[in-house]
Amino acid sequence: MNNISAASDLYNMRHSLAHVLAQAVLKLWPDTQITIGPPVDTGCYYDFLFSTPISDADFKAIEKEMRSIINKGQTFAVDTLSIEEALKFWKGKRQKFKVELIEDLQKKGEIEVTNYRNLDAEGNEMFVDLCKGGHVENLKEIPADGFKIMSLAGAYWRGDEKREQLTRVYIAAFPSKQELQDYLTMLEEAKKRDHRKLGKELDLFTFSDMVGPGLPLWTAKGTVIVDEVERLARETEQEGGYLRVRTPHIAKGKLYEQTGHLAHYKESMFPPMQLDGEAEEYYLKPMNCPHHHQIFASQPRSYRDLPMRLAEYGHCYRYEDSGALFGLMRVRSLCMNDAHLYCTEDQFEEEFIAVANMYLKYFELFGIEKYVMRLSLHDPAELGKKYVNQPELWLKTEEMVRSAMKKTGCAYVEVENEAAFYGPKIDVQVWSAIGREFTLATNQVDFDVPGKVGLSYTTADGSEKAPLCIHRAPLGTHERFVGFLIEHFAGHFPLWLSPVQVALLPVADAHGDYAQTVDKALKEKGIRTQLMNASDSLGKRIREGEKSKIPYLLVLGDKEKDATAVTVRNIISKEQVEVSLEEFMEKTVADITRRSLQPSIGS
Ligand SMILES: [Zn+2]
Ligand SMILES: [Zn+2]
Repeated sequence: MNNISAASDLYNMRHSLAHVLAQAVLKLWPDTQITIGPPVDTGCYYDFLFSTPISDADFKAIEKEMRSIINKGQTFAVDTLSIEEALKFWKGKRQKFKVELIEDLQKKGEIEVTNYRNLDAEGNEMFVDLCKGGHVENLKEIPADGFKIMSLAGAYWRGDEKREQLTRVYIAAFPSKQELQDYLTMLEEAKKRDHRKLGKELDLFTFSDMVGPGLPLWTAKGTVIVDEVERLARETEQEGGYLRVRTPHIAKGKLYEQTGHLAHYKESMFPPMQLDGEAEEYYLKPMNCPHHHQIFASQPRSYRDLPMRLAEYGHCYRYEDSGALFGLMRVRSLCMNDAHLYCTEDQFEEEFIAVANMYLKYFELFGIEKYVMRLSLHDPAELGKKYVNQPELWLKTEEMVRSAMKKTGCAYVEVENEAAFYGPKIDVQVWSAIGREFTLATNQVDFDVPGKVGLSYTTADGSEKAPLCIHRAPLGTHERFVGFLIEHFAGHFPLWLSPVQVALLPVADAHGDYAQTVDKALKEKGIRTQLMNASDSLGKRIREGEKSKIPYLLVLGDKEKDATAVTVRNIISKEQVEVSLEEFMEKTVADITRRSLQPSIGS
């Protein structure tokens, strides 16, 4: 990871580049209105109001002008102005958006602002922008071959659709030509691996207008993957001492009032249902915890029952904005690898570390090499609004999590003001094989809701106490996790996850019987097969098998039949190896049972 100084050097470079972009645009189209141009995590952008629209065809000219500005080696000079001076200055420049920004600062009580001027070697002013700073010293420090204009997009001034529609110019910017090239290659590769495209080609999931947006339908093949992921979770959780439970998809509003979901989470919930003859409204569940809490509450609990770990692949519904829906990544119906760990304060650390270890086990199994855990903390200014108003408990719980986090040895960073309403949260970010970042899973520590909904256990001295609750979902939701896996593996799933593990290709009709025999033997071992009979040429069937990304294609002809053998074509290495049927089955079953990342024959 970047250290802080490199990260801020990068910030300064990208921020300065936004100034260069605006300077170039004003040189080419002097009557353009400029607004703001922040750095982003892959470069920067700037929003403009052009008097005549520009297009992709103008990128070359803008880039050329930008390079020429960079090569001239301008420097930055800063002027501090009173609000009145600044208003006068920007009115004089006829830049109405800058005037508006300054007026807003004035309303907030600011008394001064800064202008940053770009000066050429002779000290002539080439460009000026209203800005808080954070630049390179000399524009020459910006690598002239490390950036590229990527795209134009429409953006409303201040995100308000009643205001001017601006043109956002996006730039990718990196410290070197090579890093830019790597980023562009990654984007290309991500396009090829797009889970929406591969999901359709491999027939894994679909959407239907009749069902509704954001409500994915898993096909038979996709369901195989989902079931395998779920089986993995079940096995892992059983080893970890979890108890499986099952709960309904709806509940009375009263339940979510009690847990605080209606107070803090209502806009993400589907609107309520009014049932005939019932006074109370019902809601689709946005989370599983309220239901699990009721299971905990259904019996008297003693400290001897703790920790109690209730697990469910639970189906939840979230009312995402229709514009935000995106393939499997942002959906309205989701099935979560959920569990709630009720424990005493003394047990917290051990439970938390066990959860972290479960993550690490999964990362290894799926070949996830890069990850970071983001510990999200509360913001004291938001107590009683965004967060439950328990200042001491916040600090105490955050320290408990921080201390446990350190003991896990996992890479983590702390961020302010992103906690859940009832406690600190850990978001787990992982990078796919091509280096794209995904937020897959969260862990949350809840010190508030269990007590609020009346959960308690009898302590050793006979008193009643509320347990702590750890919410954890290492495999996130099926939707997002499988979407991630599609990109991560480029659709080439490991054997254990592949919807079809082995295709059987008899060379000619005469080998059909032998293919049937092999098929039967494999199925008896629990191997998922597909028989591709000889109605098409062998070459065509091989191509078809490769397109379907079936890990092993078995070619079955006279030679194989006579020897009770199979010729195994590994579709990634394209190597062909003849092995006995017995050996093939043994190795394949072993790969599947071990959940190996690579099939062992021909790799
Ligand atoms: Zn600036
Ligand atoms: Zn929960």
